[in-house]
Amino acid sequence: MKRSTDKTWLTTFQQRYSVKERIFLFYMAFFAALALLTIVANILSGFDFSFNYKWMAISTFCTVLGLLALKRIRTELVHRVGIYGLCLVVLPVSWLSSAGLVSPSMVYSVVALLLINFLLAGIERLALNTVFLGVNLALISLYHVQPELFRTLSAEEQFLDWMVNIPLLFVFTALLLATLERAYEREREVNIEKTRKLAILSRTDSLTGLQNRRHLNEDIGDRIREWQNKGTPFSIIVLDVDYFKQFNDAYGHLQGDKCLQRIASLLQAAVSRSDDNVYRFGGEEFLLLLKETDRAGALSFARRLEADIARAAIPHKQSGVSSVITASMGIATCDTRNADSQTLLKQADTALYQAKDSGRNRIVCFEG
Ligand code: GH3
Ligand code: MG
Ligand code: MG
Repeated sequence: MKRSTDKTWLTTFQQRYSVKERIFLFYMAFFAALALLTIVANILSGFDFSFNYKWMAISTFCTVLGLLALKRIRTELVHRVGIYGLCLVVLPVSWLSSAGLVSPSMVYSVVALLLINFLLAGIERLALNTVFLGVNLALISLYHVQPELFRTLSAEEQFLDWMVNIPLLFVFTALLLATLERAYEREREVNIEKTRKLAILSRTDSLTGLQNRRHLNEDIGDRIREWQNKGTPFSIIVLDVDYFKQFNDAYGHLQGDKCLQRIASLLQAAVSRSDDNVYRFGGEEFLLLLKETDRAGALSFARRLEADIARAAIPHKQSGVSSVITASMGIATCDTRNADSQTLLKQADTALYQAKDSGRNRIVCFEG
């Protein structure tokens, strides 16, 4: 139970904040915690309290900026204050108040360098990298020419300084990389999901929810290969609503849309028990791709569709053949002479036009 709550919290956090925002928050949280821990350690070790002033300032600086970033108040500005403050104020002051090159200060400069390069871009990134390099070289030179400006540490203190800071830096870097890795992984998952949804959308007709024409040729290609390899026959039915222009004229375009949706769901229901597919082929034309179905099978299937449409009894007062909506259908079955999708579609279309020409509301099978 606790685990799933944590997961939800983490996912919400990851979704809410960009990678850059998360990196900034991570830096602020880490440095605020580091400063607080140092204060506690100083107090426990009995150091003079004045040692803590610097750390109190750092912890306040990072906490305030972290909270502002968390609440997304002037994020761009807050990020800049954080980066510039850390690189040009906090780190140089820490250098100067520490033991210079014998302390781990230089390693913290690398940590700050990572922040510059994760969060800034373009000319600003180049400029701050250059300035920060200059600051670090100046501090190294200062230590070289005026070492007395820096604190001196006993061998024992130096040992402890490194022993505490190296594990901290390892943990910091590991957590930073884990944050990035998670962010990258999440981005990848989101992209895969988006691509999957787009692929479905690109196949789907928005009015009826049926598959659109886009992948029809591909699917017919699959059936043709199956026919060539296993000899399994298949058929297509092209179905065109009769006098649909008149339907629109009589009842309006919206009712026309509803009628198409009704026919689509009726066709979908008719194929739902099998592996067959139904597509919106064009305006008021639909296409059914019937697996393992020969001409006789396709004809009886088309008769069932005809009966289903008649049972729906959608009134059509302007139809030239009936008082309800009807459809004409053309059937073509794959055989040795038409084993390519274009020929097969053409044959079904020819049959459909024969059905139209001979009075509509009927089914015609293509005769080769
Ligand atoms: P026929 O019996 O010869 O098939 O005549 P028809 O009127 O059905 O065919 P025609 O091709 O003359 O007109 C088709 C009509 O279908 C015209 C067009 O406005 C309508 N139509 C096409 N797509 C849609 C749609 O998405 N919604 C609506 N409401 N009407 C559509
Ligand atoms: Mg038509
Ligand atoms: Mg029509």
